Amino acid sequence: MTCSHADENCPIVNGAEIRFPIWHDPKEFDGTELEDLKYKERFEQIGIEMIYVFKQTSNNYKSMNLDRIRKLKEGKIRTGPVVYWMQRDQRVDDNWALIYAYNVALEKNEKLIVVFNLINNFLGASYRQYHFMLEGLKELSEELSKLNIQFDILIGNPKETIPEYIFKNKISFLVTDFNPLRIAREWKEILSSKIDIPLYEVDTHNIVPVWKASEKLEYAAYTIRPKIKKLLPVYLEEFPKIKKMKSSETFNSNISWDDLYGSLKVDRSIKIVKEFIPGSKAARTILKAFIEKRLENYSIDRNDPNKNALSNLSPYLHFGQISAQSIALVLNDFEETDESVASFLEELIVRRELSDNFCNYNPNYDNFNGFHAWAQKSLNEHRSDKREYLYSLEEFESAKTHDPLWNAAQVEMVEKGKMHGYMRMYWAKKILEWTDSPEQALEYGIYLNDKYELDGRDPNGYTGLAWSIGGVHDRAWTERPVFGKIRYMNFNGCKRKFDVQSYINRQLRKSLL
Ligand SMILES: Cc1cc2nc3c(=O)[nH]c(=O)nc-3n(C[C@H](O)[C@H](O)[C@H](O)COP(=O)(O)OP(=O)(O)OC[C@H]3O[C@@H](n4cnc5c(N)ncnc54)[C@H](O)[C@@H]3O)c2cc1C
Repeated sequence: MTCSHADENCPIVNGAEIRFPIWHDPKEFDGTELEDLKYKERFEQIGIEMIYVFKQTSNNYKSMNLDRIRKLKEGKIRTGPVVYWMQRDQRVDDNWALIYAYNVALEKNEKLIVVFNLINNFLGASYRQYHFMLEGLKELSEELSKLNIQFDILIGNPKETIPEYIFKNKISFLVTDFNPLRIAREWKEILSSKIDIPLYEVDTHNIVPVWKASEKLEYAAYTIRPKIKKLLPVYLEEFPKIKKMKSSETFNSNISWDDLYGSLKVDRSIKIVKEFIPGSKAARTILKAFIEKRLENYSIDRNDPNKNALSNLSPYLHFGQISAQSIALVLNDFEETDESVASFLEELIVRRELSDNFCNYNPNYDNFNGFHAWAQKSLNEHRSDKREYLYSLEEFESAKTHDPLWNAAQVEMVEKGKMHGYMRMYWAKKILEWTDSPEQALEYGIYLNDKYELDGRDPNGYTGLAWSIGGVHDRAWTERPVFGKIRYMNFNGCKRKFDVQSYINRQLRKSLL
């Protein structure tokens, strides 16, 4: 790879079979004010292009980008199985954490085990979400067994179960996936202090690893977008396939799914949603249908909850049953100028990865202190404003407000397990308007979201609620009662955007069935 002047000025490059003149020589800026800037820009471009070319030309299985991996703990080098403790990326295909663990196992000539830890009462999840996850894990267990990879499910607190498992089974190396949420970080910290083997973490949920996209809390989409876009050519790489491992005598995955279901201490009245079939296979089917039938109109119809224009992939993305990177790779073949593709990728990549950035770098991602200073100040100034309506959590939960549109959105979430994206904003903003304080609004919003949404307990959820109630990633708007400078939404605004009555009728019909 050479600069644009090299063909003329350096005609011979020893050892090179072929030349690619791909960047402009920044010489033209020598002696000008822009010299430093242009040289720096060109260095970065050359670096990115070289990494890209090496990735494309290397068939080596180990060619995964090592920047996706972080060492959390040094450890003793010894023999014994390699474990991938799978947390939020519950899939076999297109999973960098599994690929890395597999690679280490091959290199060490050791057995690979995938371990999942089931907590029987996790962050307000109900039977609906556990069912979605466990059925996905059933499918995963079959896929792993076809690859001769043992799969074990532990029950309990991972701070205890994982170290116990490691000691009991003489594990030599531990890999896990990345999750920015407080609870998962705490597990890893405690685990690190209890084990003496190496522990590595792989970001296989984001395309650009969270720690590479940005080293700090980003202000808004416009600040993270250029950073992500610049790095996409480096990280949006094809996934290698995992091959069947040598069969192991000790292969032994005995999972009692009935016992796992029996162990759950959750609200079983929240029923499963038949429309959403769990698992990676179903995720791929939904993706295919979305691309073939709905993607075309995504940019024009995505804010109309009467149109079936969204992908419906969020439950699958949340549980990691499908990889965002593999979706983006499929869409790579589409025209860059296609507005629908661009607007879908904006949500799938920029907005989603911005949420991980928010939860990763803001320890207060789920409380008032996590809002921007301007938003806290403004909400504080409006604490004593008179609220026209005030509802209890029970009234919200049973959709008993004066507003049929809000009630319809609540019904959609309770019945379908997935409220339309546009309605989520309206729904959360009205909770701010009809509760005593922003703290209470956030608490109610998180409780309801995480109890009923199939995609709940996700960085996207905490960020979406912080955006709606606390102006996170947004700007200050015209001041008004209760909201202060937080962006306002109202019934009439919705009426101008879509047929409100038709949405209400549809949801109410659903609740009568
Ligand atoms: C108050 C509120 C609560 C929310 N709660 C959740 C939640 O619990 N879980 C969740 O995954 N999303 C949440 N979102 C974000 C967004 O509404 C959903 O991701 C989207 O509606 C899911 O439907 P879809 O997959 O059909 O979306 P599509 O429009 O098809 O988008 C595809 C994917 O892009 C990502 N995405 C889309 N919109 C956003 C967004 N605004 N922010 C970040 N990523 C986005 C999601 O991963 C989504 O699956 C919330 C938003 C708000 C305002």
